[in-house]
Amino acid sequence: MSFKTVSKSSDKKNARYLVGKLKNFDPSLQAYFMLSACCLRPRQLPPDHSPELGLGTGDKIGKTDSGKTSDKNNVLFMPRCVPVVGRQTYPMWKGVVSGLGLIRKWKFPKTLMFLPIEMLPESVKEFKIGDKQLLQWLCDFLKIFFSEMNVNFATNYNLSQVKFKTRYHSVTGKKQILVSDLYSSLHSSFNIPRSNYILALTWTDLYPTEELNFVLGEASYSCRCAVFGFGRYEPKSYVSTPDGDNANKGITDENKLALDGQLLWKLIRVASHETCHLLGLNHCLFFECSMNESKSVKEALHQPLFLCPVCLRKLHKSLGFDIRQRYAQLRDFLQNTNNHYQNDSLQASILWLDRCLEKLQIG
Ligand SMILES: [Zn+2]
Ligand SMILES: [Zn+2]
Repeated sequence: MSFKTVSKSSDKKNARYLVGKLKNFDPSLQAYFMLSACCLRPRQLPPDHSPELGLGTGDKIGKTDSGKTSDKNNVLFMPRCVPVVGRQTYPMWKGVVSGLGLIRKWKFPKTLMFLPIEMLPESVKEFKIGDKQLLQWLCDFLKIFFSEMNVNFATNYNLSQVKFKTRYHSVTGKKQILVSDLYSSLHSSFNIPRSNYILALTWTDLYPTEELNFVLGEASYSCRCAVFGFGRYEPKSYVSTPDGDNANKGITDENKLALDGQLLWKLIRVASHETCHLLGLNHCLFFECSMNESKSVKEALHQPLFLCPVCLRKLHKSLGFDIRQRYAQLRDFLQNTNNHYQNDSLQASILWLDRCLEKLQIG
């Protein structure tokens, strides 16, 4: 099958629009960020175009119909149909974060306070991944995902110091906390300087507004504070439905929570997504990406753990880590986790990182 090749100059122009200038990166990192250009290519192109850039058909872990891994189908980033409205390219992000006076000379706050602010049941607190307790394990993940950020893990803060609104959900009957009450007041309630970011973890479920049912986590860029929960009692539908009465049958044990690979996956997915919001990253419309918006726990669980090239460019500019080293450390972390709690999403992420590191080899 023959097809018209997209001109290199058009790709270059698109990449410049999406990820800005790349001259400070080595050639293989430049090629990596250039992958962003494909999301703006005309849609009529054959889907297996440009295998040299690692783009093509197939699912995210690069399997053919026969189940065999194929080079041509080694998709690193799956483009989406990109609407004009709502895009946040790297230059747009740069304009926002540098224009609000929240940073000076590209100096972002470099400290993230990770604060579990509610007591966890003993079984959850003592749940170990290898020799690490759950919260320490989560903190270790944040230290790698946000390499070059100081992640301070403190357990001496709790909700009794904070004023906030709660409600009991009409379908599940479970208590929920109004998340905006938390993110707008945690710095002052805990006497934490505004120069630090806060990522707080609750045991109680969260809700975003009276009209909405549930939220796994939420972040405020201007408040420099994000909050996420374990998401134990999500109503089946995000919007109330007539069959809502049956939505959460079977939930009887207040502390019931499956301690498994899926829980671990959920926690790192949400914690990393919300913390990226603190750095000014909006929801991503370009690729299947960690920064995609999700409207349910199920949807959030199916989204990637990793950032697309556009979003990675923003995170990298914020923190200045070594991209290869970070990916390699993430790989080791996930492999270790998967050794203890096998999970398909963890496994797919490890395979993705392998391919990624292969493409990023120097020379
Ligand atoms: Zn979000
Ligand atoms: Zn993205």
